[in-house]
Amino acid sequence: MKLNFCSLSSGSSGNCYYLGNEFHGILIDAGISATSIRKFLKDIGISMQSIMGVLITHNHIDHIRGLEVLTRKNSLPAFTTLTIWESILSPKKKISRDCIREIGLQQKFHLAGFDIEAFPVYHDAPETIGFHICAGDKKITIATDLGHICQTAAPYLKKANLLVIESNYDEQMLENGKYPYYLKARIKSDNGHLGNHQTSVFLADIINDDLRNICLAHLSKNNNTPEKALQTLLQTFSERGINFSGRQRISILNRNIPTEMIRLDD
Ligand SMILES: [Zn+2]
Ligand SMILES: [Zn+2]
Repeated sequence: MKLNFCSLSSGSSGNCYYLGNEFHGILIDAGISATSIRKFLKDIGISMQSIMGVLITHNHIDHIRGLEVLTRKNSLPAFTTLTIWESILSPKKKISRDCIREIGLQQKFHLAGFDIEAFPVYHDAPETIGFHICAGDKKITIATDLGHICQTAAPYLKKANLLVIESNYDEQMLENGKYPYYLKARIKSDNGHLGNHQTSVFLADIINDDLRNICLAHLSKNNNTPEKALQTLLQTFSERGINFSGRQRISILNRNIPTEMIRLDD
């Protein structure tokens, strides 16, 4: 089975990820405008008609900015938990009833040829989830907003062949940066975001031959750079004596434009 993954946008300004097989595709989050989503999909050669639904991780604007228009204009079904729906829907945020799909935590469901399971993560929203998606023998896990990796989430991250994981901030840049104390504390907390060092240590703990693609996601605009995220990961691996087998690939996902398509069938 052909399996392609592409990040359309990743970061605190907006998140949207595409996953597709030869027949259909799905989106994970709709945190950029619907116009940008349609344009970026077109740019990477994917038709909007092939998209069968959008999975939503939580109610922060950088994950749902385009949701209302996508459901209204494209009648795209959207999948998330009841708690997250309750945190999204408001008199101002009108999502067509026909597009609302409720899913349970750690309950598999099937969409567009994928077996999908949502798992809970710790983050400062009423509820936040990551997704573990299986297609044939390929496993993809996406966790973009989490303050720490808890025992429930860890197994889903550990069994991925392609792992999209947050590497939000460089610890020193955040410490020395201009953010007020309360905001720094929020970001660093167990309900905030993962820093480069935290993510690198976790990856060094779980690295194995089946983990073929690592995508560092949701980089902060003000408190991180792609170079620092990569450098921290490589340094941590080197300190632990971890050598790449040459089969593994690390991608740093772009904040505002699609990152090169990852093809999992090769
Ligand atoms: Zn976010
Ligand atoms: Zn968030």
